[in-house]
Amino acid sequence: MANILIIEDNAANMKLAVLLLRNAGHTPLCAMDAESGLTLARAEHPDLILMDIQLPGMDGLTATGLLKQDPSTASIPVIALTAMAMSTDRAKALEAGCNDYIAKPLRYQDLYNAINALVAPRPAPATD
Ligand code: MN
Repeated sequence: MANILIIEDNAANMKLAVLLLRNAGHTPLCAMDAESGLTLARAEHPDLILMDIQLPGMDGLTATGLLKQDPSTASIPVIALTAMAMSTDRAKALEAGCNDYIAKPLRYQDLYNAINALVAPRPAPATD
């Protein structure tokens, strides 16, 4: 399945995201702030990033902008995790370069649908 980087500062939300991803067969990578998330993204090239918007220090929208400006990470899809229900905030997430957004608290069906829409299934190993 996919290697998915979660950038989330809330320990309970992180735990839930890790559990949901593992249940779906994905491999989670964890970062608690934007700076370490950017470092992991550049080093590990995950298939997808779940990006909390409200982070201590650098916020998730700024971090997404940096990822999308960097040719080495620009192609990694980013799903914003937002507690903000306002449609203007969702628009801000898309403007910042996020490919999609889902509302917190996370619901597994929302998460799986968003991931499946952005991560292409791995081709089966070639047989000859
Ligand atoms: Mn947060």
